[in-house]
Amino acid sequence: MLESGAAVARAALADVGADGVGEHLGVTAEDEVSATHHFACTMSGYRGWQWAVVVAAVTGSSAVTVSESALLPGPDALIAPEWLPWDQRVQPGDLSPGDLLAPAPDDPRLVPGFAATGDPEIDDVAYESGLGRRQVLSLEGRLDAAQRWYDGDYGPNSDMAKSAPSICGLCGFFTPLAGALHGVFGVCCNSMSADGHVVHFSYGCGAHSDVAAPTGMGSPAFEPFDDAAIELVEIEPRAAVEAPVEAAPAE
Ligand code: SF4
Repeated sequence: MLESGAAVARAALADVGADGVGEHLGVTAEDEVSATHHFACTMSGYRGWQWAVVVAAVTGSSAVTVSESALLPGPDALIAPEWLPWDQRVQPGDLSPGDLLAPAPDDPRLVPGFAATGDPEIDDVAYESGLGRRQVLSLEGRLDAAQRWYDGDYGPNSDMAKSAPSICGLCGFFTPLAGALHGVFGVCCNSMSADGHVVHFSYGCGAHSDVAAPTGMGSPAFEPFDDAAIELVEIEPRAAVEAPVEAAPAE
């Protein structure tokens, strides 16, 4: 069956007008009565793809029939990556001006808020405490953000924090957050440092408000040249050079 099956399979591809049918690559058994013949595809742009033809024969019969044929990617074929829904492809930083990115309906980071009353005096106060918003941050969303900030560039384990002279929690430029994260995070208000970023209480940097200015002229690398350090050397006076004797003019 295998020998004649290959010929039948190649003829079947010719019948359907398949292009670029190359050498016979092999055959794989599907079950007791059917097998798939593979042919290299020589069409440009289909490197590694294979023509596959499924043939079948009733046990004890020499008659081979064709079940189906298809062009399929082989093990070395260049194929597109597995498709992902768009909401799983979007990454932090992808949002551009004008883009809209709605949270998923079941986003675990959000929980329902409470409806506004319509009374401005009540609603202004309620809004500040989270009431009046349709959704507010859930406990999971809060813990998620806190962990991300703790592990990030402005967390206590960053290189900057490890070499800082003191922590943000003791810095005059540190403005604590309101709400549940009040005790652990704040915003740096130092334009020379992490200005506008949420920093952990135990983060820190060299621009801490308690850093004292260096005494003297600053870095030793830029100390002014010290004239007093010049070594004075006695210079031997040069030996007097006798003027050449000019010849008396002839009379
Ligand atoms: S200046 Fe430095 S130490 Fe102070 S709050 Fe900003 S990052 Fe923290």
